[in-house]
Amino acid sequence: MPSWTLNTEFKFDSAHFIEGYDGKCGRMHGHTYKVHISAKSNKLNVSKYLNSPDMVCDFKELKWAAQDVTKGGLDHAILNDILPVSTTAERIAEFIYNETKKRIPAEIELKITVWETDNSWVVYSDED
Ligand SMILES: [Zn+2]
Repeated sequence: MPSWTLNTEFKFDSAHFIEGYDGKCGRMHGHTYKVHISAKSNKLNVSKYLNSPDMVCDFKELKWAAQDVTKGGLDHAILNDILPVSTTAERIAEFIYNETKKRIPAEIELKITVWETDNSWVVYSDED
């Protein structure tokens, strides 16, 4: 089946600490997180900004987390105040996945990659 895969990358700066962590990650500190999102679909859809079915989804909807925290994103946020779970890179990726899912058509397959540092990253998807 033919498919389209949108790919987008963005960064945001946030503070966090890992609750219960025995080590320096348990103290408040910051990261410039990098996020890669891929969104795959076998059909094209309308979006909030385009009435004809010509997009997988709007890039804007994939990049919500890049916005300032006062506008609903994760930039310059204290992640511990926003995530209902631990703020490990694994949970941040899962959180971005869940929040992005709410903004796009249901059939789109998402894969979320979150870099906590240049050489440490995690990939979250709903595949096995
Ligand atoms: Zn950290």
